[in-house]
Amino acid sequence: MITDASIDRTAEREAAAFCAANPKSLTLAQQASTNWFQGVPFHWMLDWPSPAPLVAAHAQGAVLTTVDGRKLDDFCLGDTASMFGHSPKPLADAIAKQAGEGLSYMLPTEKGVELGEMLARMFGLPRWQVTTTASEASRAVIRWCRGITGRKKILIFNGCYHGAVDDVFVDLRAHPSGWEPKMRASLIGQVHDILPTTSVIEFNDLEALERTLKRGDIACVLAEPVMTNVGMVRDAPGYLEALRRLCSETGTILVFDETHTISSGYGGHSNAFGPKPDMMVIGKSIGGGISTAVYGFSDEIAERMAKLNASRPSGHSGIGTTLSANALAIAAMHAMVGKVITHDAYRHMLELARRLVKGIESVIETHRLPWHVVNVGARVEFVCADRPSTNGSEARAAMHPKLEAAIHLYLANRGILLAPFHNMMLLSPATQEGQVDRLVHILDAAVTEFLE
Ligand code: PMP
Repeated sequence: MITDASIDRTAEREAAAFCAANPKSLTLAQQASTNWFQGVPFHWMLDWPSPAPLVAAHAQGAVLTTVDGRKLDDFCLGDTASMFGHSPKPLADAIAKQAGEGLSYMLPTEKGVELGEMLARMFGLPRWQVTTTASEASRAVIRWCRGITGRKKILIFNGCYHGAVDDVFVDLRAHPSGWEPKMRASLIGQVHDILPTTSVIEFNDLEALERTLKRGDIACVLAEPVMTNVGMVRDAPGYLEALRRLCSETGTILVFDETHTISSGYGGHSNAFGPKPDMMVIGKSIGGGISTAVYGFSDEIAERMAKLNASRPSGHSGIGTTLSANALAIAAMHAMVGKVITHDAYRHMLELARRLVKGIESVIETHRLPWHVVNVGARVEFVCADRPSTNGSEARAAMHPKLEAAIHLYLANRGILLAPFHNMMLLSPATQEGQVDRLVHILDAAVTEFLE
């Protein structure tokens, strides 16, 4: 059995080892604390389980090198932003070329015309718009959906994440008489009560879905087809099809946020497995690390959007930011969609994911751990609980933050980088079999140690 005492003992030793192995990262962290709030330019960088964040020097493919010269096999890949590998050559070439030709003109470019056609071909939706981040795309989609349906409410699933978007930060929390919607307790500076306009239910709860949508007052359902931000929660058989049918029957717009599930297969989860949404959000990896995102929609939605646009007074729409769809972002996406995010890339990624799943399952079996592995496409997650969760509440309960942090630190000290907020591992087109085997081997060693 893995005990609290063995976790504490190993975590303490690994923290000391981390400090000894990364002197330059620690010195820079100290130096940065004078001018950066809490020592980092962006506070999420404090979420790593190490005593200080590793300071990156550079990264290529699936290997990240730190300022101390340590090389790490990168399974975090910028939490999906670099899931097709760090600086793939077509992307590096395209942005280097664009760098000398102007970056932001507030004008369309010729590459942009081609990119629209390429997005439609890859993702199967005919109409597209660009934003600067996936958060912003989610916000834009919510606004459009409310605008064109005239309905105020949206529906989300408990435990979801769709970016820094006020409208989606509602959770279901235990209450003496059952479960009740609550604003996410961790929000900073939240002054607006969004409970009247955001409904939340558990993923895979068909009865609640039917009841909520049949009221006829929901503008859109915003969902990941597989939940990936609360561990990984798979859709129960038939659930997504029921969601599709109920949305169509009730005039509700179905939006899939495929920012993470682009890892499921070519064209995202909805193309690999169905069903088709009315709108789709894709961020992060679509620009390979350049800040950009897109949302796509059907011809029917486009017509309704055009009608709304024509009927409103001129002035601010509340959608978009100055840098959206700039020439650099378009050049980056053009290279990614045209040359990097290919069928061949997915073949490699999916094969490696299967290898990783097999490897981790063998570790679980060897040590008789009450753990399991969840996998969709090129995204693999090990969970320190004995059975897969069916919704956000179960998935939250299955988390073991202290043990997971200690494992991550153990792995990082031995050259394996996992995303800080998950036990998620991404396989890129640049990832090698040897890296996967090393991860499995070191995870096995970690478990052996925690069990002692
Ligand atoms: N959608 C999903 C599913 C995400 O996981 C995230 C970020 N983790 C976002 C949207 C927001 O992406 P960004 O932070 O790049 O705006």
